[in-house]
Amino acid sequence: MYRERLRTLFIIALIMSLLNSINTSGGNISWNDFVNEMLAKGEVSRVQVVPESDIVEIYLHPGAVIFGRPRLALMYRMQVANIDKFEEKLRAAEEELNIDSKDRIPVSYKRTGFFGNAVYALGMAAIGVAILWYIFRLAGMGGRDGGFSAFNQLKMAKFTIVDGKSGKGVSFKDVAGMHEAKLEVKEFVDYLKSPERYLQLGAKVPKGALLLGPPGCGKTLLAKAVATEAQVPFLAMAGSEFVEVIGGLGAARVRSLFKEARTRAPCIVYIDEIDAVGKKRSTNMSGFSNTEEEQTLNQLLVEMDGMGTTDHVIVLASTNRADILDNALMRPGRLDRHIFIDLPTLQERKEIFEQHLKILKLTQPANFYSLRLAELTPGFSGADIANICNEAALHAAREGYKSIDTFNFEYAVERVIAGSVKRSKILSKEEQRVIAFHESGHALVGWLLEHTEAVMKVSIAPRTNAALGFAQILPRDQYLFTKEQLFERMCMALGGRAAEAITFNKVTTGAQDDLRKVTRVAYSMVKQYGMCDSVGQVSFPETEEQGAIGRRPFSQGLQQQMDHEAKIMIARAYRQTEKLLLDNRDKLTLLANALLEREVVNYDDIEALLGPPPHGPKKMILPQSWVEAERDKQDTGEDEPQPPPPPAWAFVTGVCLY
Ligand code: ADP
Repeated sequence: MYRERLRTLFIIALIMSLLNSINTSGGNISWNDFVNEMLAKGEVSRVQVVPESDIVEIYLHPGAVIFGRPRLALMYRMQVANIDKFEEKLRAAEEELNIDSKDRIPVSYKRTGFFGNAVYALGMAAIGVAILWYIFRLAGMGGRDGGFSAFNQLKMAKFTIVDGKSGKGVSFKDVAGMHEAKLEVKEFVDYLKSPERYLQLGAKVPKGALLLGPPGCGKTLLAKAVATEAQVPFLAMAGSEFVEVIGGLGAARVRSLFKEARTRAPCIVYIDEIDAVGKKRSTNMSGFSNTEEEQTLNQLLVEMDGMGTTDHVIVLASTNRADILDNALMRPGRLDRHIFIDLPTLQERKEIFEQHLKILKLTQPANFYSLRLAELTPGFSGADIANICNEAALHAAREGYKSIDTFNFEYAVERVIAGSVKRSKILSKEEQRVIAFHESGHALVGWLLEHTEAVMKVSIAPRTNAALGFAQILPRDQYLFTKEQLFERMCMALGGRAAEAITFNKVTTGAQDDLRKVTRVAYSMVKQYGMCDSVGQVSFPETEEQGAIGRRPFSQGLQQQMDHEAKIMIARAYRQTEKLLLDNRDKLTLLANALLEREVVNYDDIEALLGPPPHGPKKMILPQSWVEAERDKQDTGEDEPQPPPPPAWAFVTGVCLY
């Protein structure tokens, strides 16, 4: 605190002395400069002699030009050896310069003495203190312990408190899917509800859990549910709130957060995005660390370990970058439970949809939509799903529907994937043709190859997210890919570029995103998946993970070989794609013309134009158990009979945004 006060005083004194010098003094000059640059040019208005310090202060006329430039400063100082003879010397110089006696420079004398200087210094100090006082008054922080309580305020942690006891918060029922994660956190709930049971047996309950996973997958939601279920207060704070430029503030905030938590124990402290404070500490030889970030982390470690078992404070933290967290944070006794929350599976997506559809006014029962929506949204997070439901409701309201139906969901998914359609047309006829052929290229390759996924919809309507057109595919929930599948994915991504090249004999910038994907897949196959014979069964980390440049875990020779192999692989994929499109040129033209005419074509349209896919239907195939379960439901009449799904379900995760 004293450090901060001193620092503030110092800054103010510096500013004042700076202002003082800027406004009044232009620095020291020599006798020669005084005579030649000032006196001879008639720029001097008066001089003042200060005998105590052997200094002469020279005051210039406003707007004076000296050393060839107009000057802001109007006062200069000159050190004089024999101050008593100064006036005599000045008059002699004026005589020599032929300055008329009536234009001679007036000379005055200033005698300050010790008393005068002391009064000046005191006056300056008083002004400084007055300014400080005023600043704190302005901040509205002046209180019993003086104006400095503003700093104390900064040290307080800014957390949100949710009162779990009210029972109104989020409960486990509201968290759809995530069955394993819920089981894991239930242990904390049990402990917070009846700690005696654990303590009696001498069990040490984990101090905290780290929720890992991509954003929007329900980490915060789960932590809140723990608090509500355990009926304890929930103190939530974002990791970034600890981070400050001012030294020591982060650590002070950590202390303040845990102090508050202990007064409210039993309770849950939730730190969102903990990677903002929990990054690995530097590992220099001295082991000495003094950056603000490291101090904050050290304090966090101390607070978490310093808690006695009787404190009943449980720390939950979330991040999607567990790889950069300090190991000390993850060791037993701190965040020792690691709960991985991944993107939801098909079944989980269905449950999340049902959760969010519950509050909407729908035309059909919720389970009519939930399964189909879940099928159509692989790779979506819980937050995306919530967003789709809300977008559908907004769309239905905007368009004047009484209830929400398939059409609104179709619009919402498309909007979440690719943005909404741009109303003002920005493309020329020629550009539209290029885009139509590009997208048809993707679609046709996807249709004809064996391992590619279904093209559900192709559109050449420009979107607000800068995509000029897109081909949507329906990726399966798949975790393992064969070499052939990856290769054919590359072919499909190259379909756009190849179609442009064979049709127009020139290529455009539109394929940039496709090429980036192709490059990534090719390098992954060679460098990570061991799918290239000449490089062998090796796997190296991705370039971004390696950190500093120059720390490559392979030789220059192997790097060159890998580059070469990736290039060959891409070239092979391109040749194969080009050949496929040349052999099916008529189909490409047919599809592109249909697109130019209608702007959007879906799976059924493509099937009508080109016939069924040569390697069997490519529509989503549900797991057998699901199909049976759905059939059983209908047989037993458990649910109301469902009308057949409308034909227009043809959108999905965009794989290629042109
Ligand atoms: P994270 O903390 O992982 O970034 P959140 O917990 O903040 O994500 O989730 C954001 C939103 O997504 C929630 O408010 C909720 O509406 C929705 N959501 C995510 N997962 C689920 C789920 N499993 N069940 C219901 N809603 C969910």
